[in-house]
Amino acid sequence: MTPLAKLRSPVVIEQVMARIHAIGLTSPLRIMEVCGGHTAAIYRFGLHHLLHQNIKLLSGPGCPVCVTPVSYVDHAIALSEKEGIVLASFGDLLRVPGTRGSLSDARASGAHILICYSSATALDYAIQHPDCTVIFLGIGFETTACTIAATLCRAIDTNVKNFRVMSAMKTMPAALNALLSSPETSVDGLILPGHVSTITGTAPFDFIATQLNIPCAVSGFEPVDILNSVADIAEQKCDGRAEVRNCYRRAVETNGNSCAQQAMRRVLEPCAATWRGLGRIPDSGLKIQEQYSEWDAAEIQVAAVESMEHHGCRCGDVLRGSIHPKECRLFGKGCTPDHPVGACMVSSEGACAAVFNFHTDYAD
Ligand code: SF4
Repeated sequence: MTPLAKLRSPVVIEQVMARIHAIGLTSPLRIMEVCGGHTAAIYRFGLHHLLHQNIKLLSGPGCPVCVTPVSYVDHAIALSEKEGIVLASFGDLLRVPGTRGSLSDARASGAHILICYSSATALDYAIQHPDCTVIFLGIGFETTACTIAATLCRAIDTNVKNFRVMSAMKTMPAALNALLSSPETSVDGLILPGHVSTITGTAPFDFIATQLNIPCAVSGFEPVDILNSVADIAEQKCDGRAEVRNCYRRAVETNGNSCAQQAMRRVLEPCAATWRGLGRIPDSGLKIQEQYSEWDAAEIQVAAVESMEHHGCRCGDVLRGSIHPKECRLFGKGCTPDHPVGACMVSSEGACAAVFNFHTDYAD
């Protein structure tokens, strides 16, 4: 059996389920999967159907497109209207509704917006088109931020002056601290983000166990990975322990990826950031260091736009784990992946899209 087949094997899944059932939970557990990749995998593989009635999985703020505030989309659209500007963006972001339409609408109306799979592609475009200024829409967590940092390093080292980044990059630890410290949040355990942890390591999440007394497990994205993490968290809870367990050892180390961290430290620095659903959180974002302001799109002025979320969209509640997507009255009615009203219905990692795409009976 290949390693991947083993991580999806019904036999191995049954073994992990037997481990979960043997724990003998006496009270319900609410476990939040922080990462949108986990949310997508849980619904894609139907893992929520397998779990004990006493274990409820909640989606968290781990989809980068979802947590990017509407004001960022509005600002990007305003930038796209300036002469000589070419925006470059990941495809998902184009479909996120802004106050007066999406980037996709702006593109249809003539704005020059490239769809890229990486910031490096945007830089290459800038090098090939010196007559325009290419602005890369830099959203994402640590996993993406290190690649954007590497691209910025290349632009700086090769003195490419017609490339900038509009940063809405975010970092997980401070945001999780804000979310978990809120009296409105009721979470018994956390499945920590696997991709982010490959960069950060597990150490930045230790405070969740030591200070907030919440059991955690860093997880991979296959069914056996996720169920093993659930089992680990449930065992910790039953034993009265709170630790950060690394259940994704094939990719994650305690101290993460030092090379990626070094690239980020060279050109980026922590800043306050606004998260959809969580508000403004100190030290939860990354901005370009002042000495590299020539590469920072924040230096380009645009007219202020008054930003507003769509009335009735409950993405904020979904991202805080306060409601299940189907509790939004627009779910599957006014809001579908073809016609998203909120960001959580856009990306495949968004909780609303995951439930809509893979949860056909919309049952719990
Ligand atoms: S179903 Fe649509 S409108 Fe409702 S919370 Fe999700 S994205 Fe927002």
